[in-house]
Amino acid sequence: MPSPVGHALGGAIAAVLIAPRGTPTGSGSRLMALRARLSHPLVRLGALAGCLPDADFLWGRHNMETHSVGAALAAALVAGLALRSRRAALVTGLAWLTHVAFDWLGSDDTPPLGVMALWPFDDRFVFAHAYLFEAISRRYWLPNFVTHNAWAVTSEVLMLAPILAVLVWWRQRGAGPRV
Ligand SMILES: [Zn+2]
Repeated sequence: MPSPVGHALGGAIAAVLIAPRGTPTGSGSRLMALRARLSHPLVRLGALAGCLPDADFLWGRHNMETHSVGAALAAALVAGLALRSRRAALVTGLAWLTHVAFDWLGSDDTPPLGVMALWPFDDRFVFAHAYLFEAISRRYWLPNFVTHNAWAVTSEVLMLAPILAVLVWWRQRGAGPRV
């Protein structure tokens, strides 16, 4: 299962799809436009929502209710009402779902494997056996703890940052869905 870096990138990818298209106003160079898009409040919200399901570590029910479509819908509703914004609701819900999907597609070494993705409709754990992302190790006493996690985070960035960059470029050209 990815690190918070991978999950934040997943949430940002979702947000870039939904944030307004076109070059942000007031931005001069392409680099400034890129910065403006990546620091857009909706992209920050997406990055946060992409990480939030792992707050379940705090109450010891990891990969359970928060890692589900039900939680994504609830989070979208809360964000939409709190921020009075349909886009914020969409970004939050979609970013939350990237977390569920990434954990489903990633590696897991702690049974039950996978996530309770269909809760509250079904509380079985689902796991894709795709191993797309490395499992982040919390076994700090093992000799490869640092090197393993450093590689896991690096591979997430190598996989997801190019996707985010292409989407930012695509949206800045005014392409893609008009939400
Ligand atoms: Zn998770």
